[in-house]
Amino acid sequence: MKALVWHGKGDIRYETVPDPEIEHPRDAIIKVTSCAICGSDLHLHDGFMPGMKSGDIVGHEFMGEVMEVGKENKALKVGDRIVVPFTIICGECDQCRRGNFSVCERTNRNKDLADKMFGHTTAGLFGYTHLTGGYPGGQAEYVRVPFADATHVKIPDGLTDEQVLFLGDIFPTGWQAAVQCEIEPTDTVAIWGAGPVGQFAIRSALLLGARQVVAIDRVAERLSMAKAAGAITINFEEESVVERLNELTGGKGPEKCIDAVGLEAHATGTLDSMMDRAKQTMMLETDRPHVLREMIYVCRPAGTLSIPGVYGGLLDKIPFGASMNKGLTWRMGQTHVNRWTDDLLRRIQEGQIDPSFVITHTVGLDQGPAMYDTFREKRDGCVKVVLKP
Ligand code: NAD
Ligand code: ZN
Repeated sequence: MKALVWHGKGDIRYETVPDPEIEHPRDAIIKVTSCAICGSDLHLHDGFMPGMKSGDIVGHEFMGEVMEVGKENKALKVGDRIVVPFTIICGECDQCRRGNFSVCERTNRNKDLADKMFGHTTAGLFGYTHLTGGYPGGQAEYVRVPFADATHVKIPDGLTDEQVLFLGDIFPTGWQAAVQCEIEPTDTVAIWGAGPVGQFAIRSALLLGARQVVAIDRVAERLSMAKAAGAITINFEEESVVERLNELTGGKGPEKCIDAVGLEAHATGTLDSMMDRAKQTMMLETDRPHVLREMIYVCRPAGTLSIPGVYGGLLDKIPFGASMNKGLTWRMGQTHVNRWTDDLLRRIQEGQIDPSFVITHTVGLDQGPAMYDTFREKRDGCVKVVLKP
């Protein structure tokens, strides 16, 4: 079959690889009908995530048709149409029973590596480094879904791929980011990053009743998309984020701050961002946490920081004193996808939201490598790429 394969920094290729096979009785094999490129894939593309190996199949946002099921898989049958959550879940361990799906205790087959790196393992993820199991990803014609009897969202008839594909990652990710803010009707929610995750966080914060939502980015098309949803926008290259947020909140700062940017934050001319870039080049720091610093500084005392943006390792110069003394609450994590999908699927069916608004590019899987660059460079108005194998 054909798939997108990682060979090193900036080197993703469209290649022929062996077809997947059932390896365990709970597995399923699906034929991918649609998949997408996520901001998290860019961290792999840019060489920031440890634990990738040349030859790894990438992709963790995908859906398709069940072609084959393992003997013990009673939940799925051939022909079912499913979205596959990017977090692989057993559905049975202590964490899964509590709904903490992204830290499932049993699906990371490289648990020992993760235990060493993080203290305790987290869930297995598709197409995302050997630290999280090294499972072949979904930017491919076929995928083996391990623990498929639990790791799926069944799609009812009458919905297009484009309406439901993002249930596997960015829609619940934006939603969880907003839910973790415990939004009150008087809240200002400031959201850094108007990429796909930011777009869903904006719409989720509005659906959850925020007084005002402020979107921060520097890419015109992304800011327009945010404005169309009802957000106030700030271009961080044209004005001071801190000054404008204080202005919009009577000098008090936003109650809730969401980091939908993560470890590759840009910043122009600030001292901290120059330091991060220098340290990252010298391998003295893994991440560029400019957005985190800005959120700590501008957030209203007793406010909440919600962090869906991905970080990889060790961060420098975090003003923890400010955070402690202001009494900020931090919420973060990879998304507990299946915790939210029943509710979100219902909201799609009821027409509260149509997630396809975010798609700007639909191309064949063979054009995947070029699309990584278009998405990364935000060329051609690119916000979200869907690939058709
Ligand atoms: P993206 O790269 O398309 O979007 C990031 C946006 O941040 C870009 O539009 C960029 O211009 C903007 N940005 C950069 N520096 C900024 C700054 N200083 N201030 C404000 N905006 C800035 O990616 P995405 O797909 O939207 O993903 C965003 C983040 O969410 C990534 O880190 C990704 O890994 C992460 N993510 C996390 C989960 C999860 O489960 N927690 C799931 C999906 C994605
Ligand atoms: Zn993702």
